[in-house]
Amino acid sequence: MDIDRFQRLATAGGVEYDLEEVFGGAIRGLLTTNQKVEKGEKDGWLTAIMHLAPAKASGFQVCSNATAGCEAACLNTAGRGGIFAKGEADNAIQRKRRLRTAWYFARRNEFLQVLDAEIATHKRRAARKGFQPAVRLNGTSDLRWESIKLEGQTLFERHPDVVFYDYTKHPDRDVSDIPNYSLTFSLAENNDAKASVALANGINVAAVFHSVPSEYMGRPVFDGDKSDLRFLDPSGVIVGLKAKGKARQDRTSGFVR
Ligand code: SF4
Repeated sequence: MDIDRFQRLATAGGVEYDLEEVFGGAIRGLLTTNQKVEKGEKDGWLTAIMHLAPAKASGFQVCSNATAGCEAACLNTAGRGGIFAKGEADNAIQRKRRLRTAWYFARRNEFLQVLDAEIATHKRRAARKGFQPAVRLNGTSDLRWESIKLEGQTLFERHPDVVFYDYTKHPDRDVSDIPNYSLTFSLAENNDAKASVALANGINVAAVFHSVPSEYMGRPVFDGDKSDLRFLDPSGVIVGLKAKGKARQDRTSGFVR
């Protein structure tokens, strides 16, 4: 995307950028880790995760099926991403997530080359430490990675020795023909019918609760907080997640059950 178009769209989205940083700076630091994905280490998996700025927080949409409830309660504010200095509504983690998202829109091919290289680095690191490598590309986004290609290949095709997994709110993302990508449908305040279809099609449904029940929507609830490794979950279950970050205060939207 050229600078003029980028600036026009960012301004329309209400976000200002240092254009030198977006267009001139080296793209790096796309994959990170966090406490929750680190829990997978005890099961022999090393997970790297990419956090973009969710929904339109960067001025550019990366979650086109987001709901008011999920945006308000997004994991974007869980952990250190939600710690702000007194009187501030922004921090270095949020700025970095916006910058990654800006790079994705402004310099797509370079972004994918760096992401591809960081996945390769993650594989080497995992091998060195004796782990199997896993990657979550949509830590705080809902992009259709099955259609995003670098040199004619998806990242799943370029890294068949990595397990990729994500949550999604798109009911029509069919990744059943991708052996190394697993999706869990994510329940919001207004998509119960779509969640029922996902369950009927053998796709697990994750739901956020104030207090996690043992059964929901007629299915057993599996504790999704014990590990982040969704691809290892039994099938036919509701994946129960305890409300975190701003979601703990959400008593009205219906997003948190
Ligand atoms: S779709 Fe997911 S990542 Fe996007 S705003 Fe909603 S909860 Fe956050």
